[in-house]
Amino acid sequence: MTKHYDLIAIGAGSGGISVAERAAEYGAKCAVIESGKMGGTCVNVGCVPKKIMWNAATMAHALENAVDYGFDVKVKGFSWQRLIAARENYISGINQWYDGYLSDRKIDVVKGKASFVDAKTLTVDGRQFTADHIVIAPGSTPVKGDIPGAGFGGTSDDFFGLKALPGNVAIVGSGYIAVELAGVLNALGAEVTLLVRSNSVLTHFDALLRDTLMKELLSSGINVLTNTTIEEIEKTSENSLHLRCNNSQFYEGFDCLLWAIGRKPNTDGLNLRALGIELDSLGAIVTDDYQNTNVKNVYALGDVTLRAPLTPVAIAAGRRLADRLFNQQTERHLDYSNIATVIFSHPPAGTVGLSEEAARKQFSNEVKVYQTTFTPMVYAFTRHQPQTAMKLVTLGKEEKIIGCHIIGDGADEMLQGYAVAIKMGATKADFDNTVAIHPTSAEELVTMR
Ligand SMILES: Cc1cc2nc3c(=O)[nH]c(=O)nc-3n(C[C@H](O)[C@H](O)[C@H](O)COP(=O)(O)OP(=O)(O)OC[C@H]3O[C@@H](n4cnc5c(N)ncnc54)[C@H](O)[C@@H]3O)c2cc1C
Repeated sequence: MTKHYDLIAIGAGSGGISVAERAAEYGAKCAVIESGKMGGTCVNVGCVPKKIMWNAATMAHALENAVDYGFDVKVKGFSWQRLIAARENYISGINQWYDGYLSDRKIDVVKGKASFVDAKTLTVDGRQFTADHIVIAPGSTPVKGDIPGAGFGGTSDDFFGLKALPGNVAIVGSGYIAVELAGVLNALGAEVTLLVRSNSVLTHFDALLRDTLMKELLSSGINVLTNTTIEEIEKTSENSLHLRCNNSQFYEGFDCLLWAIGRKPNTDGLNLRALGIELDSLGAIVTDDYQNTNVKNVYALGDVTLRAPLTPVAIAAGRRLADRLFNQQTERHLDYSNIATVIFSHPPAGTVGLSEEAARKQFSNEVKVYQTTFTPMVYAFTRHQPQTAMKLVTLGKEEKIIGCHIIGDGADEMLQGYAVAIKMGATKADFDNTVAIHPTSAEELVTMR
């Protein structure tokens, strides 16, 4: 028998759960269909396990610095297995919590892989479900390079499955996941080589973040190989990976290689072609400002659209869609501008709004920039002294702040409040009129000249 719902979400990740939970609050009968673990990428192989690994790496750095503060600390060892067991235990608690949470809200969870029959009907392992509204939120999957031997490497999903700390790791990529994994593995004791296709990491971010992070990666002992493209990976009989790269470069001796070169939207198997759902050149589902696809009553949100692929974005888009469909908020939709994001590198970097380059391209000489670089007080007398750098990008005579970029300890926690101010249209004068909190790194943001 076919079961009918007001709304079905394909995928029980950040986006799918959020749209169903908000719609259910308004009395809609909802289901989520999930082929993997509850919570999706963020909970299982994304933000949550990543932040736990980042916390561990931050503790490793703190232990090193403690000596310079007079502590007689000798680290006798580090158990990767203990950390991973604690992490996975924490995550399985979240997975189970979701089951109870959704059932309390009378949201049905259907386990299996969904595929469209028509715009109102889905099939899951032979069972059929219909809905007035179907939300496609199946997320994305990490990709590997298209070269001989690419399969000898893993992806970020495999990083979270590592049973032991690798000794010598090659990480391919320059985006936020590549630098995050590099920072974690380096701090926990692995030799790390980062292979970067261009001349820098974080190419889509402001130059101040790029340059400061490049210096810090190098000074923390990570081997960053720029302008380097892998052409072939070979595995020796001793399980050692050898990399043949462009310009006849050759690197060997790795026991692990991780691809961090991007993700592709999970549209395979959904039978979208039969529906005529429009995809862009990267295979992402095209939506308008209201998450509508080109097929009536079928919506898409989250990573499958590749629009700002971040957990809070998928959540916000899902909630707003439910507000619109089931609470008569006809104009409710997500404004994708000025979304703050943090790169959990060591040190972390946070960014909101336009980079200086993007602002100058758009507004040329109407742009004025304020920036500073300093050693935060916590590192005044430690041997390792990661720098903090900040930049405010302002526009026009009133110096409206259109970009804020911070790298350094605390950037991750600092940025959220500034993102509120910037979203509200704060100017440089508003920042200057705010009395500083001393002594902090954050005070520099309201005292820059
Ligand atoms: C290593 C890593 C670190 C990250 N760190 C951060 C971070 O620090 N901060 C941040 O904001 N974001 C981070 N992200 C991004 C974040 O995880 C994603 O943006 C977010 O999970 C997207 O949510 P979603 O609902 O679109 O998709 P997902 O969370 O991926 O959920 C999609 C779900 O759909 C299921 N599914 C797929 N196809 C089907 C089908 N046909 N039928 C049924 N179910 C299906 C999948 O199994 C999955 O559970 C990180 C991602 C990665 C990989």
